[in-house]
Amino acid sequence: MSAAIVYSARYHVDIGPHVFPTRKYPLVHARLAGDGSRTPGEARPVPYEFVEPRAASWDELALVHTADYLTKLRTGTMSPEDVAQLELPWSVEMVEAFRTMVGGTVQAALTACGSTSIACHIGGGLHHAFPNHGEGFCPFNDVAVAVRVLQSRGVERAAIVDLDVHHGNGTAFIFESDPRVFTFSMHQQHNYPMWKPRGSLDVGLPDGTRDATYLAELERALPLVCASGPECVFYLAGADPYEDDQLGGLRLTKDGLRRRDRLVIDAVRQAGVPLVIVLAGGYARRVEDTVAIHVATIEEAAESGGDCA
Ligand SMILES: [Zn+2]
Repeated sequence: MSAAIVYSARYHVDIGPHVFPTRKYPLVHARLAGDGSRTPGEARPVPYEFVEPRAASWDELALVHTADYLTKLRTGTMSPEDVAQLELPWSVEMVEAFRTMVGGTVQAALTACGSTSIACHIGGGLHHAFPNHGEGFCPFNDVAVAVRVLQSRGVERAAIVDLDVHHGNGTAFIFESDPRVFTFSMHQQHNYPMWKPRGSLDVGLPDGTRDATYLAELERALPLVCASGPECVFYLAGADPYEDDQLGGLRLTKDGLRRRDRLVIDAVRQAGVPLVIVLAGGYARRVEDTVAIHVATIEEAAESGGDCA
C-alpha cells in the first residue's frame, strides 16, 4: 500500500520577511520523505509516493476568478491596495507558485474522486481568495477551482470542511448561491476576516475554546456535512487553531488537532466519500510545530485504513 501525496518544491517561494512560512511545505515533504527526523528504528507504516502537479491553467482559474483580476496577477498590474489586501508581494515566482498550488489541489481532487479514497496535498487551502481579489495570503481559491473542475466532470455535490482558525470567507462567498456545494467553516469568531459571508454551516467559536469543546462542536457538525450527500469532501486542515499560533486564539493542543483530523477522516470514510486534504494556515511561533501538525494530519490520513490512492 502507498499513499499518493501531491507536492511541488515550487511552493517554497521567497516572499521576504513574513509571518507566512512558505518553507513549511518543503519541511513537511522532507519529514514524510524520511529525512532522518524520525526516531531511529521507527518503522514508517505507509510508504509515500509523491506526485508533482502541473500548474492550473488560466482557463481553470477563470472557473472561479474574474478576467480582470487574473489579468492583474498575470501582468503584474496590481494596485498598491490590491497588494495590501493580498498581503503578499507580487512576483512572477509568487504567481507561478500559487498557480501550481491550485493545480495540486485539482490533481488531488481528481485522484481522490477517481478511486474513492483519500488524497493529500502538501499545499492548498487558500480560502480567503474571492473571485475578483485575493486577500490574507491567498491569491487564488484552490479548493473552489477544484470544485468547479469536478462539477465540469459531472460531480453533482461537494462539501468543504474548513477547520482553519480563520473563517473561509472567500469560499463561502463563491458558493453562497450554489446549492450543490455545502460549505462548513468552524473558526475563531473574533478574528480575521471581519466580514464573514454566510456558508452552509458556520460555527464561530470564542477565544480560548480548547480541545474538549472544539471536538464536541465538531462531532455535532460532521453528520450535517455528510447528510448533505457529497460525492467528494475537501478538508482544510489548518494548523492555526494550535495553542502557540501567532494568528490564532483557539488554543488547541497538538493531540487535540490530531483527534480533530481523525474525527473528520473517520466520518468521511464511514460515509464512503472520497476525501481531499489540503493544509491551509499555520503560523506557530516555531515553524517545527506547524510542520509537525501538518505531518500528523497526513499520517492520520495514510494510516486511516490503508487504501489511500
Ligand atoms: Zn488561517
